[in-house]
Parts: sequence; structure tokens; C-alpha cells
Amino acid sequence: MSTKQKRYFLTEEEIPTQWYNIQADMTTKPMPPLNPSTKEPLTVDDLAQIFPRECCVQELDTENAWIDIPEDVLEKYKFYRSTPLVRAYALEEALGTPAHIYFKNESVNPLGSHKINSALPQCYYAKQEGTENVTTETGAGQWGMALSYASKLYGLEAAVYQVKITMQQKPYRSTVMRTFGAAVTASPSMSTRAGKDIITRDPRHPGSLGTAISEAVELAQTTPNTKYTLGSVLNHVALHQSIIGLEAEKQMEKAGEYPDTVIACFGGGSNFGGLAFPFMRHNILDGKQTEFIAAEPASCPKLTRGQFRYDFGDEAGYTPLLPMFTLGHNFKPSNIHAGGLRYHGAGVIVSQLLKDGMMRGMDIPQLESFDAGMLFARTEGIVPAPESCHAIAATIREANRCKETGEEKVILFCLSGHGLIDMPSYEQYLNGDLQNYAITDEDVAKNLAELDNL
Ligand SMILES: *Cc1c(COP(=O)(O)O)cnc(C)c1O
Repeated sequence: MSTKQKRYFLTEEEIPTQWYNIQADMTTKPMPPLNPSTKEPLTVDDLAQIFPRECCVQELDTENAWIDIPEDVLEKYKFYRSTPLVRAYALEEALGTPAHIYFKNESVNPLGSHKINSALPQCYYAKQEGTENVTTETGAGQWGMALSYASKLYGLEAAVYQVKITMQQKPYRSTVMRTFGAAVTASPSMSTRAGKDIITRDPRHPGSLGTAISEAVELAQTTPNTKYTLGSVLNHVALHQSIIGLEAEKQMEKAGEYPDTVIACFGGGSNFGGLAFPFMRHNILDGKQTEFIAAEPASCPKLTRGQFRYDFGDEAGYTPLLPMFTLGHNFKPSNIHAGGLRYHGAGVIVSQLLKDGMMRGMDIPQLESFDAGMLFARTEGIVPAPESCHAIAATIREANRCKETGEEKVILFCLSGHGLIDMPSYEQYLNGDLQNYAITDEDVAKNLAELDNL
């Protein structure tokens, strides 16, 4: 028998049947979302006007560490779970590093990213409470694809606002959404008041997750029997994604190792939280000293250069005020190809953990991310999503550091998605047409100053 096992799986019986809610174990609990006009903490009832009620209960749950995964969701998870934990021997060899590199491959499902892990429960809960329609935003389109498929499974109609610039960069994702039966609109659009306002202020606005969220929330609020769903940022999304880390924990055990460093790319925090939180619980409860790194684009650096404060989750200011590391909700991210990372703020839980020194951010320039994705593709045979390339770049930095120090660290990262529908981005990279986007301290400060009268 070979001693070099490449992939680790779980049997269906071994797939976790509960999600992990890190809020219950956090030393400092996250601060509550606030009503923007009264500045009062929001209750489940308030939030349930927009989101499926069960998601709101989960959002504010700081008591229960373990939440049962509904049986029906568990059945549907089995279409693609467990996902493999893979030892990246070829990448290690190419780097000449003594580090052991593992990745949790969330790209191996028909939708191509981790987003389906939360789309299924969100649609399940919406259906349970009698909702007929769901609305959402999508950046690069992975969440839109996942939500479109999940809503079809549960007999819901889906309306998706896709960021205009990414719809142009990744045209096939909207085709997949429409294949699943969703109605897709480029944001900012003329179909909502928020969209019209944004276009009036800036007729050539390329769109951002912030603009698309405003439009999707408005549509949900103005249409009967309709709930809004979000693919990242919120606590209940990170909760659903914890299936990633809980599986990885069991798989690492099969590999006979425990991670010294856990790395994921960072948009709003769902794949990071999903992989990291189950391991972080052992830092909190059992004195483990694993290091956690969230890799963000250098052009959208809310973790490394943002401020911790209350801010809106969207551009128009329709959402509750959330306590987060933010670049300001008016921040207009550069048109980088990692569309899923073009978001001005970080999730509430992650923001608190960052403030408490439980993790750190690492900013990665666009070209370095594609260099890393290229090496990964040529060694491990998987073309990674441009978002995931940031996690790979951070992993390579850490592995190279191990090469210098001789440390045999165990590094685990999340391959959040594949890049097979991101070919226009790879084409530009290969043709030498991609660039880095710098952002100045003045830009950051100016944008944040606009928040002072919130
Ligand atoms: C959406 C997305 C991300 C960023 O979102 P998070 O909530 O931060 O995980 C990262 N990678 C892929 C492949 C995505 O689709």
C-alpha cells in the first residue's frame, strides 16, 4: 500500500449532522445589528421582515454551539458531500517546501463553489415558512448559481441581481442561472429605486455587491411573499458553511495531522469562517495555537486597512447597521477579477475575532493571486477560481517562509471554487493584460470620513 495518501473522504455516515456556531464560544460576543434610524438592536422579528425567520434565529444565537442540520438539507448535501481533503504533494514539490499543504476542495460540486452549502438551507427555511419567491445579489455569480439551483429544488422563484461589471467579465454564469430558471438583472439597474438613484449619481457605475444587495433587498421588501437571501457576510451563512471545517477536522484526523495554519480567501467571510471556525474552537476551548489567515485583495483591503465600526451592508443604506471592519459602504472596489471579493466590509463574527487578535488578514495583489493560481493549476491540475487564488497565494507565502526556516508546518487552505467559467480572466492574465490596483491611504480615509455622520 502506498504511504503517500493523496485524498481523504468521509463516508455518508461520517458527514457531520450539526453545524457549529462559534458565537456560543466566543470570549467577546459580537455586537448586535442596529436599526439605522433608532440605533436600537434588532430582534429576530425585525430581521424576519427581510430574511427567512429561522435564519434570523440563527443569526442572533449566541447560546447554542451546535445546531441540527435539517434532515432534508442533509439529504441534499449528499449530492456532493463529503468533499475531498487533498494533500498538495505536487505543489509542495514545486515550491521545495518542507510544509505539508492540504486543501479542502469545495470546488467539487456541480455549482463549482462552496456557496451551495448555504443556498440549500436558506431555501429550505424559506419554503418551510411559506415563502414563494427569493431575491438575492451575486458578484461573480457563484452565489447566484447556487441560489438559483437551490430555489428550483425547493419550488421557489428566484430573482438575482448580478453586479454589472462581473456579468460582463463572466458572462456564462448568468446563463447557468437562467438555465436553472432564475430571472437575472444587471446591477445597478433601472428596475428599483435604489438602482435608479445609483445610476443617477454615477451613470457609469460598474456595480458592486453593495449596489446589488440594495436592489435585491428593495425587491424583497416591496413584493409580497418574498424573502431576501445573502450568500456571505452574515452569521447564519458562516454557520451553514461550518460543514466545511467540521468535515476537514475529521479528514485531517484520518491524515494523522492537525493544521498549524488555516487559510482562506476573504470576501465577506463565509468560506473563511466555514473552514476556520471549527478549528478555532480548539484555540478557544483547548489551548490549540493554530494561526488563521484571511487572504483579501490588496485593492479591497477591509481587514488590513479598514476600520472597525458600524456601517451599512449595502451601498444605498437599506440594511441594518453592522459592526464590522469596513472601507465604507460607498467604497467602490476596482474591477478586479475576483468578483466575489469585491465587498467593502467583513462579517460581524470575523470582525470581532480580528479585533480580538484571533486571526489576521493578508492582502494579496491581483497579479500575485493569478501567479499563484497558475502554479496551482500546473501542479495540482485544477484551475482555481480567481477568489481562491488569493488563498493559494497566501499559502505559497507561508510555505516559502517554511522553506526559509525549515519548519514542517501543516497548512490547510480552502479551495473555495474552480475557475472553469472564469476563462475571460485567465485569458487576460495570459495575454499580459491584467494589472494591480493600488489604493491610497487618502482614498481609504476619505471614504471612511463619509461615515462620521451615520
Ligand atoms: C463568493 C466566493 C468567495 C467569497 O465569499 P466568502 O463569503 O468570503 O467566502 C470566495 N470564493 C468563491 C469561489 C466564491 O464563490
